[in-house]
Amino acid sequence: MTAVQPHQKAKALKPSSRRPAKELCSECGLCDTYYIHYVKEACAFLNQQVAELEQQAHGRSRNLDEPDDWYFGVRKTMVAARKQAPIPGAQWTGIVSTIAIEMLNQGLVEGVVCVQNTEADRFQPQPVIARTPAEILAARVNKPTLSPNLSVLEEIEHSGLKRLLVIGVGCQIQALRSVEKQLGLEKLYVLGTPCVDNVTRAGLQKFLETTSRSPETVVHYEFMQDFRVHFKHEDGSTETVPFFGLKTNQLKDVFAPSCMSCFDYVNSLADLVVGYMGAPFGWQWIVVRNDRGQGMLDLVASQLETQPVMSQGNRHQAVQQSIPAYDQGVTLPMWAAKLMGIVIEKIGPKGLEYARFSIDSHFTRNYLYVQRHHPQKLAAHVPDYAQRIVGQYKLPQ
Ligand code: FAD
Ligand code: SF4
Repeated sequence: MTAVQPHQKAKALKPSSRRPAKELCSECGLCDTYYIHYVKEACAFLNQQVAELEQQAHGRSRNLDEPDDWYFGVRKTMVAARKQAPIPGAQWTGIVSTIAIEMLNQGLVEGVVCVQNTEADRFQPQPVIARTPAEILAARVNKPTLSPNLSVLEEIEHSGLKRLLVIGVGCQIQALRSVEKQLGLEKLYVLGTPCVDNVTRAGLQKFLETTSRSPETVVHYEFMQDFRVHFKHEDGSTETVPFFGLKTNQLKDVFAPSCMSCFDYVNSLADLVVGYMGAPFGWQWIVVRNDRGQGMLDLVASQLETQPVMSQGNRHQAVQQSIPAYDQGVTLPMWAAKLMGIVIEKIGPKGLEYARFSIDSHFTRNYLYVQRHHPQKLAAHVPDYAQRIVGQYKLPQ
């Protein structure tokens, strides 16, 4: 007789509206499945356990005497890369989709957990287990909203898949790592992206309406290394808005409370991370965390152009000045924001220093948020590496 796992018994107890993390829930999808049985341990917002899970996934946790470990996590190498032939319609050049397709084509995995969109709404996430290259391609480009990727966990177990790739952001991957051993897989590969400032679908609408000249035609946007938000529209045109011109006073509540209390911007627990913020403008930033991640990257090496990562400038003053400005919801007139954008693009942080700038700005903001809204969680919820990052700055009371 097959033993029934404790989580399988929890199915009957599964009210889909139950979210033990309450307002901090990032809708990662775990609680839509009977793996809710493990939520108290697995949820990134109930049990911060980055160091323990790093040890499990990579064989070591961050070295706290090493500042680059605070920022970028456990890693073997970092590199800047772009596809020689970019995938049309991908978020950047499509390295994530390309790795997933190669892994499927070469038989390393039988399925890929990724996020397509619903037919009715290009930004409404629809997690799937893709089993063909076409299904992976249909998931390209960010759905810049909270996405319940782990809602397919029961399907994985029932499907009999044994070798799986999961693509996801930090909070999803922390919960996944926590229940990894219960999934009955022979091999799990994890391809992560950095993630910050995510929103609900309603929050996204408010952001688009507050920031873009034509919210209904936006197909893609990104906060770029040139200190501007780049919107791409249906007709192929690009619109840019300087960070310093964002209507901070109206946007303060738009980001999800989960993202305002997240300290895993760089997806610490993935085998391989593909983002952009540590690379020069137009390039993608790749962090290889362990041997499995190196193997995944090697599969697509012949399709990539690469260059070493670089670092230039000094972020500290810009971060320190931005802390009270954000806190007070200061919004500059557009002419001043554009001017400031031009100056900071010329003399501001670049490459890895830009990534540190972004991490510092978000961690200080998030630390203040947790301190003010969830003071009882502060000590346990903020990982040691993030305490060190925040400790470099003077914060308002
Ligand atoms: P593509 O080939 O286009 O593939 C994109 C993949 O992302 C798809 O496989 C899809 O399954 C997955 N995906 C889409 N939406 C979601 C979602 N909501 N949740 C989980 N997975 C999703 N990088 C940075 O360096 N700095 C950032 O601040 C940053 N913020 C991000 C915020 C969000 C909400 C997301 C989803 C990503 C963010 N990234 C960030 C990652 C970056 O935008 C690109 O996704 C990454 O560089 C991969 O680009 P690509 O062209 O290779 O991806
Ligand atoms: Fe459940 Fe995920 Fe929400 Fe935590 S973040 S309460 S694990 S759905």
